[in-house]
Amino acid sequence: MNNTFFIETWGCQMNDLDSQRLSGNLKLRGWRRVDDEKQAGLILLNTCSIRDKSEQKVYSRLGELRELKKKSGAQIGVCGCVAQQEGEKILKRAPWVDFVMGPGNVGHLDEVLTGSKTVAVDFPEDRRYDYLAIDRPSATKAQVTIMEGCNKNCTFCIVPTTRGREVSRTFVDVLAEVRAAVDSGRVEIELLGQTVNAYRCPESGRDFGALLSAVAEIPSLVRLRFMTSHPAEVSEGMIEAMRDHANISRYLHLPVQSGSSKVLRRMKRLYTREKYLETIGRIRAAIPDIHFSTDIIVGFPGESEEDFQQTLSLVAEIDYGSLFAFKYSPRPGTPSLKIGPPVDDEVASERLARLFDRHERMKRSRLESYQGKVLPVLYDGLSKHDPSMLAGRTDDNWVVNFVGDPATPLGTMVGVRIAHAQHHTLRGEAV
Ligand code: SAM
Repeated sequence: MNNTFFIETWGCQMNDLDSQRLSGNLKLRGWRRVDDEKQAGLILLNTCSIRDKSEQKVYSRLGELRELKKKSGAQIGVCGCVAQQEGEKILKRAPWVDFVMGPGNVGHLDEVLTGSKTVAVDFPEDRRYDYLAIDRPSATKAQVTIMEGCNKNCTFCIVPTTRGREVSRTFVDVLAEVRAAVDSGRVEIELLGQTVNAYRCPESGRDFGALLSAVAEIPSLVRLRFMTSHPAEVSEGMIEAMRDHANISRYLHLPVQSGSSKVLRRMKRLYTREKYLETIGRIRAAIPDIHFSTDIIVGFPGESEEDFQQTLSLVAEIDYGSLFAFKYSPRPGTPSLKIGPPVDDEVASERLARLFDRHERMKRSRLESYQGKVLPVLYDGLSKHDPSMLAGRTDDNWVVNFVGDPATPLGTMVGVRIAHAQHHTLRGEAV
């Protein structure tokens, strides 16, 4: 038997971590990971269904793998959110697929591999989470899931279908995993959850603010980050934890989606423009130099030019450091389908371009404001674009490529004088 495997991962951080879990689990059972799908006895596609005809992309990739399977005889498994969304349909349309496994079953890979389940799209009560069997790709960073699923039910979003209802892990479990990761040399931890700040310990009821503080106080933890926060779940405890712990990154990704209260109501985002601005104001009052980033959807059904202008003015008012924007993409089974058709595609594209253009100028002047300063940078590897340089992140989450001593141990905090701003990153020299 060819017990080598290949994993292809699409989508968000949660999918990255699911792939690390699948890989770790397989390695524990004697499988070996390969980078070439042609060599593999098992091919896993860990898919994403958040936008843009994602299911078609998966079917077209499966079309390519059909030919490969004829030659190599590899087993093929479709995992992730498209697996959850399509379920049985995948086996009907692509009968050369051996199994379909949704995100709720990542800890149950054994049952799928032994053939006792070929379509695993339930959300088992006992979600197995073996944190000692995670194949972490970085020697300095570890991602740690603290909760799965989402109960918010935003009208545009497929996540509640693909990742199920909110389930938090216990405080004790999360702390044990973080300690194990830190003990293995990971100095940077990123806590993950679809609505990470809705975390609530199922045993003690302790909330996200309490968890953040407890994790931040683990000795030798140099940097703590988390993703993704929902604006309606920002509590005083969370803000205080960020303010009071120097090792919690001064970066907050707080997706707003729109600057118009009318659109936000239709999206069922559970806050208004005013409430969101008030939340930003409370956070800034506590942590003045925080870097905010956001997600925005343009062209949601019924979005008028005036609504879009409100998004532009909100973006200018908040002065986000980073912004991720997408055209609305109708997702199967989501309530927004009943609200109406998306805005005309040309109009939505033009709005998206205007938004990026407006933000680009703001980001440029922000990045330029770092020129000449010496910033602490957590060194985490060689620069992706120029391996003669080192790379790392600032406390407020900007990537810095810098000239430095290649013998510097990974995970060292290095003082870097910023020489200039690149498109999305900073460049400098270790001092
Ligand atoms: N729950 C996480 C969050 O709130 O960030 C993950 C959601 S998703 C991976 C990230 C972003 O995708 C969302 O914040 C939203 O802006 C965008 N998105 C989600 N559904 C979308 C849709 N139907 N069309 C366009 N963009 C969408």
